[in-house]
Amino acid sequence: MQFPASVDSLKSALHLPPHWVDQSVGICKVEERHDSGSEVTRCIKIESDFTWKVYAHGREINPLSSCSAISHIGGNLDPSSLQLLVDTVDRCTVCSGNSEKQFVSVVEARKGSIRSSNGDVSAFLDQSMPFIDPVAGEASHVTVRSSQCTLLTDGNSKCEVCRAYRKNLRAIVSRSTRVSSPEKRKQVDASSHTNYRYMIGKGYWSRV
Ligand SMILES: [Zn+2]
Ligand SMILES: [Zn+2]
Repeated sequence: MQFPASVDSLKSALHLPPHWVDQSVGICKVEERHDSGSEVTRCIKIESDFTWKVYAHGREINPLSSCSAISHIGGNLDPSSLQLLVDTVDRCTVCSGNSEKQFVSVVEARKGSIRSSNGDVSAFLDQSMPFIDPVAGEASHVTVRSSQCTLLTDGNSKCEVCRAYRKNLRAIVSRSTRVSSPEKRKQVDASSHTNYRYMIGKGYWSRV
């Protein structure tokens, strides 16, 4: 493969999708915000050696641990892989994480993060990246994101990492409801009353 002479010649045949502009900081997608103004929602920076970085809402995407569509694009761009990269980043959406209310509240109750047994943060409350909530079908920005989240995802609302993390969140939610549910506490009380009566009937207390 013959590499181009410069980043400018690399980009010379590039066809930019709608909302994309070639700026001094990189090739960026600029979108209207629903409240006011516009925002750079995606950005691709290309170095003089044709290596590249992708940013979504200002956050750097690790190309190796990103969604497979992005991680399959080679480390050094040529004109056709650059076109593929731009089209892929344009198409990818922000991972929704696990945005259900019960997951958000259980992480809020743990000061915004869940730690694994070795102390590392395995998931956290993220309020910084707008996404389309798959349940409500509308824009949201509050979710529980796995620390290994790929941030962008191709064709699914959640990345594989956040999808796999759901079972941990379900387990944490069911553990915390078992402890705090008043229904369950009432059942425990009722059964211990029965035990007292049983023990009194057996003359247990008279021996004490
Ligand atoms: Zn943003
Ligand atoms: Zn994710």
